[in-house]
Amino acid sequence: MQESDGHPPVIFALASGLSRAAIAVMRLSGAGSGRIVESLCGRLPAPRRASLRGLWWRDGAEPVLLDRALVLWFPGPDSYTGEDSAELHLHAGPAVINAVADALVALGARPAEPGEFSRRAFAHGRMDLMQAEGIADLIDAETEAQRRQALAQVDGAQSRLYQQWAERLRVLLAHQEALIDFPDEELPPEVEQGLVDGLRELHATMQASLAEGAGAERLRRGLVFAIVGEPNVGKSSLLNALAGRDAAIVSARAGTTRDAIEARVVLGDVPVTLVDTAGLRETDDEIEAEGVRRSLFHVKQADCVVHVFAGDHAPPRLEGDGLLVCNKIDLHCAPEGAIGVSVLTHAGMDVLRDALVTRARALTAGRANAPFTRARHRAALEETVNHIGRALDMDWPEMRGEEMRLAMRALGRLTGAVDVEALLDTVFGQFCIGK
Ligand code: GDP
Repeated sequence: MQESDGHPPVIFALASGLSRAAIAVMRLSGAGSGRIVESLCGRLPAPRRASLRGLWWRDGAEPVLLDRALVLWFPGPDSYTGEDSAELHLHAGPAVINAVADALVALGARPAEPGEFSRRAFAHGRMDLMQAEGIADLIDAETEAQRRQALAQVDGAQSRLYQQWAERLRVLLAHQEALIDFPDEELPPEVEQGLVDGLRELHATMQASLAEGAGAERLRRGLVFAIVGEPNVGKSSLLNALAGRDAAIVSARAGTTRDAIEARVVLGDVPVTLVDTAGLRETDDEIEAEGVRRSLFHVKQADCVVHVFAGDHAPPRLEGDGLLVCNKIDLHCAPEGAIGVSVLTHAGMDVLRDALVTRARALTAGRANAPFTRARHRAALEETVNHIGRALDMDWPEMRGEEMRLAMRALGRLTGAVDVEALLDTVFGQFCIGK
């Protein structure tokens, strides 16, 4: 079962997590899984059919029954990982899980590393990198919008788009290679013009998609809304009211919220971390000064800044496109342009909540199958666009070709498919220059 037989070792992991439950799913993958399952429960069940079996440990004179479990057998290559795999649906007691894990180790398997099943699935061509990331996102999805987005990614919505782009780029590069390799041949002049036009079109399409993905990236990671304002205007009270719990300490003394306090809420199907910042004011108190420094950091990072002031003060100057909230309207009227609320009496809170929901939705707007959902994707796409842009600026065919190759590579990094053979196939398949 070790790597001596040329196959990677069998790995196992509890696929169902460690929380208290009725059933625990132990998953195995690797070329030797079949032999391990046979040693535990006799002959293998029919492929993909659940079968109730006794799991036996046969080390000593008498076989020991470890559990009675549903056993599923998934022969490769049509399994999740592409390898021979199995699932043991155990009774979820810790002692059962430990006994089965010990038996698996004794039979030559080892505990899986994080993400190792999906990594093997990628290695066996069962999914590309973006789909694998989609699975991670689907597991982390907290809201319906995040679930839809992650599932579209698992289904390959983005992968297909990138494959199309890669294919177009590959054809253009094949033309470019022909211009480089056969400058003296009678290549029709349309080849070069078609190449430049094609590159220009691809450049514009990709550039447009960069703007489109921003909302999807925010939806995946969730938003940060910073609540800022002078001490004692009611920021902590507001955060508590929005979060529905006592997350921040509310005090009548100015400067009591010494640090940033966070609460995670869901606004319009978007996970939002509300950050209550320490009162932004000049202070001699060292701890409070640290709080102010952190507040400024949060304000910089925030997707939206909620400026709170009390009605007896002049409204603060609004920087960027934050929200202006006037609290304590039970005591003073709100000026025009501010959302008036009283955290104390709940007046205006629905209006404020709606405004926050609208903002959260606007920041994460986009199609479920947006072109990208992570900073990694954006960086690779930006790099691709930059190389194509540079290719368009180049007059020298060799330099243009080089930029196009770099663009291909950056694009390939998105899905994990940087494929040189395919390029060669296109070059020789399209031109048939028999020399
Ligand atoms: P922060 O320093 O901005 O976080 O302010 P706090 O949330 O600690 O509130 C300061 C004080 O204002 C506390 O005594 C609150 O009870 C009070 N306060 C908060 N909201 C309201 C409101 O809507 N009306 C009135 N009258 N008092 C409020």
